[in-house]
Amino acid sequence: MSKLKVKNSEETIEVNNVYCIGRNYHEHIKEMGYTDNRDDVKKVPVVFLKPNSAINSINGMVTIPEISGIKISGDLQNEVELVIIIGEDGINISEDNALEYIYGYAVGIDFTLRDLQTEMKKKGLPWAVSKGFFSSAPVSEITLKGDIGDIRNLNITLSVNGETRQNANTSQMIYSVEYMIHYLSSIFSLKKGDIIFTGTPAGVSTLKTGDIVEASIEEIGNINIKVV
Ligand code: MG
Repeated sequence: MSKLKVKNSEETIEVNNVYCIGRNYHEHIKEMGYTDNRDDVKKVPVVFLKPNSAINSINGMVTIPEISGIKISGDLQNEVELVIIIGEDGINISEDNALEYIYGYAVGIDFTLRDLQTEMKKKGLPWAVSKGFFSSAPVSEITLKGDIGDIRNLNITLSVNGETRQNANTSQMIYSVEYMIHYLSSIFSLKKGDIIFTGTPAGVSTLKTGDIVEASIEEIGNINIKVV
């Protein structure tokens, strides 16, 4: 079972699908060396999925998986992201109605095994392993949408051992929350309990064992994860 707790409540939400949007902040597109063609990028978001088991972790820790005692990657990286929690089933949801389908928001970290992802991209192969491994998608408690002022103007930050690595604002997102819901629901349909990672701002970096990663979004909350 993959569940998220609702802040200041006994309620929990069972997580269904975990959708992820890529390349949603221009400064991150640049730091990754992707072509930043503003017109192209506006129409078609990069979409990938993680298994819902990825939101689980053991005692708030993330670790690079091992196969027969050998770590599968040498480059675990941080990506702080706003996470949308869907509260109602829908298909072909219009941007005008999109906000009605939202239950709340949370802060999440899209942990990425960058070396594996780069290798798979080069080969033209799927990069599910680099993004979907166990504990790769920790998510904070959920804040109800009604408790948040303006979702388009929230500071989003991530620090490692107290040092700021990512510091941006949701106003810099290329795709609006409404557009992401419209887009995903038109392709996949959306179900209650689906969650959407909405992409990371600039400042992704390599993590090492022992690092304490703290992600936060104002008015929403924060989450602390230890790299082991
Ligand atoms: Mg990401």
